[in-house]
Amino acid sequence: MQERPPGLYLHVPFCASKCGYCDFYSVVRPGAVSRWLDAVSLESKIYKDMFPPFGTFYMGGGTPSLLDGPDLERLIKNIHETFTFEEGFEFTLEANPDDLTTEKLRVFEALGVNRLSIGVQSFDDSELRLLGRRHDAESAGKAVEAARRAGFGNIGIDLIYAIPGQTERSLRATLERALSFEPEHVSCYELTLEPEAPLARAIERGEAGKIDDDAGKNLFMTISDVLGGLGYIHYEVSNFARDEGLRSRHNSGYWDHGPYLGLGPSAHSFAAGVRWWNLDDVDSYCSKLNEGDVPVEGSESLSESQILLERLYFGFRTADGLPLDFFDSLPDGGKTLAELELASLVRIEENRVVPTLLGFLLSDRLPLLFSAD
Ligand code: SF4
Repeated sequence: MQERPPGLYLHVPFCASKCGYCDFYSVVRPGAVSRWLDAVSLESKIYKDMFPPFGTFYMGGGTPSLLDGPDLERLIKNIHETFTFEEGFEFTLEANPDDLTTEKLRVFEALGVNRLSIGVQSFDDSELRLLGRRHDAESAGKAVEAARRAGFGNIGIDLIYAIPGQTERSLRATLERALSFEPEHVSCYELTLEPEAPLARAIERGEAGKIDDDAGKNLFMTISDVLGGLGYIHYEVSNFARDEGLRSRHNSGYWDHGPYLGLGPSAHSFAAGVRWWNLDDVDSYCSKLNEGDVPVEGSESLSESQILLERLYFGFRTADGLPLDFFDSLPDGGKTLAELELASLVRIEENRVVPTLLGFLLSDRLPLLFSAD
């Protein structure tokens, strides 16, 4: 099987403020952008000529849309001078609604961004306040409209569910509003909180309610039902595309266990069975590179059984599932598979094992039922 082209990820570690639930590495320090840009340029050079042309480029964060026009231009110029891309590569930029001015949208387009992933999270003002977002529902809607007016034909609206206080009704209202913009892609991630997140502490103090597992499952079913009812393809546990060609190519690379290079603090990379990850501190990241060193914090060479286990994890998260013969390589694979089929967690379709909606709900647990050793 020919390996898919690698993906390039760039982590922009800056935000205008920190949201109360966030677990991504980012800092509120606009003064550090220039030094970080120099460091990214140094880091890119380390990997020059080490990867074939990239099939996708994904700027995530943090808040990539926070960078101003000249900084973005400098950054993208450096990326193109260092790396090559396949013809028609997917270029995604994560954006916060409050950054989407007409001027900024023009810069994105001129730089070749062809897919915007807009972090709306909810169209309910009280939920947005609880999450600590800076935008409200109205400005989020205006941002999506502005992106459409600017000519973006591939817009993703990113939502969160299981927000404290969220009800089936408020979720349906958010989905309805999101769908009124006819987005090409919708992501709905379940809110998960690290114990030290401000929102987790507020829940602990009883200042915000917690969504229990059953309520969370019901909300998940509602999302799949509403989006599926309008023809969106539920192609990954948390992701929906308006048609096959609109799946996120970059993220599909992760789920297919394809190679990728990650640049920037906290970014992860994976190639030839080895995973490595960068320091998650912008100062140490920059210092290492300025000293002529690599900013890598750790790495691991995956054993054959780890690779099998990861393929199981990713396979149970996607509607494409896994080839039926993949399970031949697992001890008792056929027997466990038959049990999952009996429990309606997977079904066999055209020689592939694909998770059902119930299987999606338990996707993190299903791989543990197989022994890869
Ligand atoms: S904007 Fe995104 S990355 Fe930044 S703090 Fe909020 S959730 Fe985290």
